[in-house]
Amino acid sequence: MQYVSTRGGARPLGFSDATLAGLAPDGGLFVPETYPLLSADTFSNLRGKPFEAVAAAMLGPYAESEIAPDDLRADIDAAMGTFSHTARTPLVQIGPRDFILELFHGPTLAFKDVAMQTLAKLMDRILLERGRRATIVTATSGDTGAAAANAFAGREAIDVFILYPDGRVSDVQRRQMTTIDGDNLHTLAVDGDFDDCQRIVKQLFVDRDFNERVAMSGVNSINWARVAAQISYYVFAALALGAPDRRVAFSVPTGNFGDILAGYVATKMGLPIERLVIATNRNDILDRVTRTGDYTPGTVAPSTSPSMDIQVSSNFERLIFDLSGRDAASVAQRLTDTKNGFVLTAEEKAKMATLFSSGSANDEETAATIGAVYKDTGLIVDPHTAVGLKVARETVLDDDVALVTLSTAHPAKFPDAVVTGCGMRPAVPQRLADALRDTEKMTRVPADAAQIAQVILDRSRAVTA
Ligand SMILES: *Cc1c(COP(=O)(O)O)cnc(C)c1O
Repeated sequence: MQYVSTRGGARPLGFSDATLAGLAPDGGLFVPETYPLLSADTFSNLRGKPFEAVAAAMLGPYAESEIAPDDLRADIDAAMGTFSHTARTPLVQIGPRDFILELFHGPTLAFKDVAMQTLAKLMDRILLERGRRATIVTATSGDTGAAAANAFAGREAIDVFILYPDGRVSDVQRRQMTTIDGDNLHTLAVDGDFDDCQRIVKQLFVDRDFNERVAMSGVNSINWARVAAQISYYVFAALALGAPDRRVAFSVPTGNFGDILAGYVATKMGLPIERLVIATNRNDILDRVTRTGDYTPGTVAPSTSPSMDIQVSSNFERLIFDLSGRDAASVAQRLTDTKNGFVLTAEEKAKMATLFSSGSANDEETAATIGAVYKDTGLIVDPHTAVGLKVARETVLDDDVALVTLSTAHPAKFPDAVVTGCGMRPAVPQRLADALRDTEKMTRVPADAAQIAQVILDRSRAVTA
């Protein structure tokens, strides 16, 4: 399987190279040349199988020419072995046809652990085979950084630099990134918002000189392997609810479009999904573009679901690439500079509407949903999940369609919003308490690519002269 850039200006790469590269050198995102199509039997035969078996079946076609099936399965087993629930991603029923898919049983209590733990094992394997080192530079709105710090701590071949917006992540999120032991971890508190962090990482990526000197890798959801590792839970949940014979829809709390893109890819691989619902907070650019076709970024407004406080949604580029009929020139022309926004053509917008719908929840609606769910079911949900549930409830579907809302974080990660919503303080799982040691380690930096590049050059062990 070869991977091509959404902007058409990069040489196609194999799975290992695309995984190490993260972003394509032309600023585009790697996508598989074609999506592997699996038969209905292949899906049906995975019913009742462990999560790891489903994940191996979904990742396999993307990695198979370069990573042996047994090795891939071993890496997935090791990655998911860090989860504290034997189902890995259990489904919880909250209404006659309404379900929550709990994706937060990993070490940092957010869905990003699923893909990050898997990616860390794969990257380690690839680097070990090649006898090489790498420098990971990643931007985070909170949870990616925590997941990356946990997954990559102590790895000999890899140094990790995490850029987070100073003062704009929750206390728990910050402490998860800054208190983990690991000489190879470097947490940078950037004087800016998440879009600044993401822009700087992209700038460093396309700086060929810098990129080569530090052997730069990316683990943001722009990394294809992360998207591929997330396909598994859509399939796992859909099969448990009776797919491919029963219709299933998903509501996904969305920021960078990485999570929901995996659901889209599942449909391209042959899993019938009735509808994918994009749920945003007050930073509702993805809701607006879905309804109107107009993508004009505003300024990021802080919300009670901070992991979705995003205006420039990187992975949306992969969907536009497909909606445009894989017209790389048109993608490059529209997305090279997104400051002034772009528009979808009428045809793209119509194509998008056949699978996607959208909605948004402001902080008050999010709090009210946390309260209502607690009252109705006794379940305490986190504010990101609540955004997904609020929009799910507004989505019109036939009664026989199962509607699954992805629960992307454990409520203990966002206790203040939870208390506001339902008056209950969520219990802190022991593994979170254990992770939050006293001493925080971070470096404050301005939102300036050149200065951040210098910090990385000074510290990364992968730097070549
Ligand atoms: C990252 C994150 C999201 C958004 O996921 P995207 O892939 O960026 O759309 C939602 N909820 C939580 C808790 C997250 O950490």
